Amino acid sequence: RKEHDEITRLFFVNGYSGKNQYLNMRYMSALKSASSVSSLAWSGDVCLEDVHFSYPLRPDVDILNGLVLTLKCGTVTALVGPSGAGKSTVVQLLARFYEPTMGRITVAGEDVRTFGKTEWARVVSIVNQEPVLFSISVGENIAYGLPDEKISQDDIIKAAKAANAHEFIISLPQGYDTLVGERGGLLSGGQRQRIAIARALLKNAPILILDEATSALDTVSERLVQEALTLLMKGRTTLVIAHRLSTVQNAHQIALCSDGRIAELGTHFELLAKKGQYASLVGTQRLAFD
Ligand code: ATP
Repeated sequence: RKEHDEITRLFFVNGYSGKNQYLNMRYMSALKSASSVSSLAWSGDVCLEDVHFSYPLRPDVDILNGLVLTLKCGTVTALVGPSGAGKSTVVQLLARFYEPTMGRITVAGEDVRTFGKTEWARVVSIVNQEPVLFSISVGENIAYGLPDEKISQDDIIKAAKAANAHEFIISLPQGYDTLVGERGGLLSGGQRQRIAIARALLKNAPILILDEATSALDTVSERLVQEALTLLMKGRTTLVIAHRLSTVQNAHQIALCSDGRIAELGTHFELLAKKGQYASLVGTQRLAFD
């Protein structure tokens, strides 16, 4: 009951940012309970097979209606679509915050329900536009949720360098030991995102779920974040809720979600040539031209 109240509050009172907070809350608690980094070699495709879903609070409303989508191992799939189409719901099912009402999600042909939720939390990283930082040091934030004994200071610095975060971190008063303040409030939005990317690089999970930022950062920060994200996505089975044209253009495939199904699937140019919903979505510039 308490959780349902919280869900209602976050989704319907706080709107989109509330939705992110909810995802963050669920993800961070899952991450905390995942006691070690996965040593499993996940090499198969991730498939959503005829997935149907209704939220527990509204069991009569079908949000996903037989959604079929294959995330090819090691490739990037950009998920686009109008507001309310079900994109975040797909993310929540992939993260296993909820289970499909019907249909299933598989990895390498195996139903994900055969894996424990903790095990799943080890193999999936979620990075979204409002990453959670804690009132601890920068270095501790990067290593958050990972077992202390396996993470050295060198690993943290390596991840920060790869995430374009090292330079700004060493310019902070106490470098990696600098406290970031309540919710990382002493850092800029772009800096917080790069810390979250460093955390995901360090975790090194094979499956990545990304909710791309909608709000623009300043040009330099934007470039640094984009570079870090490109590196993070490389070789991982990635689903990105994409808001930028450059992300969809570079994705291996674009899935257009509409009314709880994948209505169009292909590359940017294939979908443009189709002159369907994707083409009009791009046409109406609901995807930011960057
Ligand atoms: P946006 O682009 O605006 O973020 P989206 O494509 O991510 O939208 P979802 O957030 O997945 O869409 O929402 C799909 C539908 O599910 C919407 O009608 C929304 O109102 C509904 N919904 C989302 N979360 C819940 C919930 N916790 N309980 C009940 N209904 C929900």
